[in-house]
Amino acid sequence: MEKETICVQGGYESKNGEPRVLPIYQSTTYSYDSSEELAKLFDLSKDGHMYSRISNPTVAAVEKKVAALEGGVGAMMTSSGQAASLISVLNITSSGDNFICFSNLYGGTTNLFAVTLKKLGIEARFVSLEDSDEDIEKLIDEKTTLIFAETISNPSLEVLDIERYAKLAHKNGIPLIVDNTFATPMLCRPFEWGADIVVHSTSKYMDGHAEVVGGMIVDSGKFDWSKYKGLSEPDESYHGVTYTKDFKELAYITKARVQLMRDLGSTPSPFSAFLLNNGLETLHLRMLRHSENALAVAKHLKESKKVSWVNYPGLEDDKYHVLANKYLDNGLSSGVVSFGTINGKEGATRFMDSLKLAKICVHVADLRTCVLHPASTTHRQLTDEQLESAGVKPEFIRFSTGIENINDILSDIDQALEKV
Ligand SMILES: *Cc1c(COP(=O)(O)O)cnc(C)c1O
Repeated sequence: MEKETICVQGGYESKNGEPRVLPIYQSTTYSYDSSEELAKLFDLSKDGHMYSRISNPTVAAVEKKVAALEGGVGAMMTSSGQAASLISVLNITSSGDNFICFSNLYGGTTNLFAVTLKKLGIEARFVSLEDSDEDIEKLIDEKTTLIFAETISNPSLEVLDIERYAKLAHKNGIPLIVDNTFATPMLCRPFEWGADIVVHSTSKYMDGHAEVVGGMIVDSGKFDWSKYKGLSEPDESYHGVTYTKDFKELAYITKARVQLMRDLGSTPSPFSAFLLNNGLETLHLRMLRHSENALAVAKHLKESKKVSWVNYPGLEDDKYHVLANKYLDNGLSSGVVSFGTINGKEGATRFMDSLKLAKICVHVADLRTCVLHPASTTHRQLTDEQLESAGVKPEFIRFSTGIENINDILSDIDQALEKV
């Protein structure tokens, strides 16, 4: 099936007389006729649901849809994007290990990696997109487990050269994990360019309606995990299962579920999965409109004297335009535009406070136009140095273009720019 069809129909198929729409299986538990059968589920020798912390039919249908959209072999939904990032790293990283990540990552991810994982004895080694491959390789040693990056970084909107970093990772025997939240599989499928694992905050475009927080981990099934002992040696906590041997290309995603989801319990509710599925059904239409509207907004802002700079990979003179054309479907660059007003932080605040249609929200990438001032909100916990390397200036506004009529969005912008 093509991506658009998977959005609408993937993951769930109604059989004769069954509900046409994915049902919400609001049940923690599942009944079986014999203990023997249930024992087989515990042994992982038989497929099926036993307890909703680990899996649930509604959640499973959405996981199947997202795995198909990304072209992966399996997926696991989590209660948030943060949980997805955490589990994607912990699944192959232990105390004493380190990993490489980019300094332009989402603020929440940066905090998780630099502060919380550090307390667990895991060191995140931050690199920049400006660093050469040699610079990055200097930081890779025998304890380095992975490279973590964002397809389109939030909020600096830098487009990742996925092929380059996949090659660099593989040359060093480690996987590339890509946070594909902003692009979504409608604009980019990182596995096609060599990425090994994809994570999402489904709270953004995938849900798209700003209704439900969620996350997803998708496994390409292609990486060779034989050097990763947690996957290639027996799991004592799971009576000796060896993931690479027993689950082959599903090793990574199976371990994430039966070991880490079992132990950490960052489980999504079936209702959250249902809402996410509703969002995914129109993802293909929305990403087109978001991208069209955002390009119009970016061009419009560029012409204003009240605006000092505009970043949008869809603009021809943007630093990331060439990469956007290579990696993003038809160069469509999602709905997020970042720009700076004149008069620094004060100008930015006056612009934001004057908007009427666009609201100030701690959210991004949903169907209603919204704005945020990262330096005083999402990135508030970062030091000045971290702000600098995350590309967040004091006058920086993150403009999340919705799918309203473009004329209404532009007139709102114009009246607010007059106040700057
Ligand atoms: C929002 C976001 C996250 C965190 O996801 P939550 O669902 O808010 O936990 C991670 N990565 C990116 C790129 C994001 O935009």
